Amino acid sequence: MKKETFHEQETFALGQQLGACAREGEIYCLDGDLGAGKTVFTQGFAQGLGITEPVSSPTFTILQQYEEGRLPLYHFDVYRIADPSEMDEIGYEEYFYGAGVCLIEWASLIEELVPEDARWIRIEKNPEKGFDYRRITLE
Ligand code: ADP
Ligand code: MG
Repeated sequence: MKKETFHEQETFALGQQLGACAREGEIYCLDGDLGAGKTVFTQGFAQGLGITEPVSSPTFTILQQYEEGRLPLYHFDVYRIADPSEMDEIGYEEYFYGAGVCLIEWASLIEELVPEDARWIRIEKNPEKGFDYRRITLE
């Protein structure tokens, strides 16, 4: 599925829709350059799950957990991971194969660890279509 958004709010709303439908054990992989809108999408997703506390990019912690919503949300940002083995150190399997929902920013950096049935969401800019334009592809 492809969707175009023309404002941050629309990307947020798409995340919110998916968060509202998310089910236990699902993994959402987010890909896209710095500033693409992965965190904006995640903020919407969190709201869709019923999380009201602010969600930011866990810049120096790879993982941020939110227990407040309908399901636990495990928000990963693996941008700073130098080697996938660092994921072992945080015990990622407990989260990937747990009862919550995982959302992974920069998931392609740890692609080898991502289960087959994960959903991939790619966010791309296109300068020709304006500063706030994004093309979002959902696999
Ligand atoms: P990432 O997490 O991918 O690095 P962020 O979500 O932190 O990116 O930032 C995206 C930035 O792009 C925000 O400043 C946001 O306001 C801006 N933006 C502009 N248009 C859009 C859009 N259509 N969708 C999402 N973000 C947008
Ligand atoms: Mg981010």
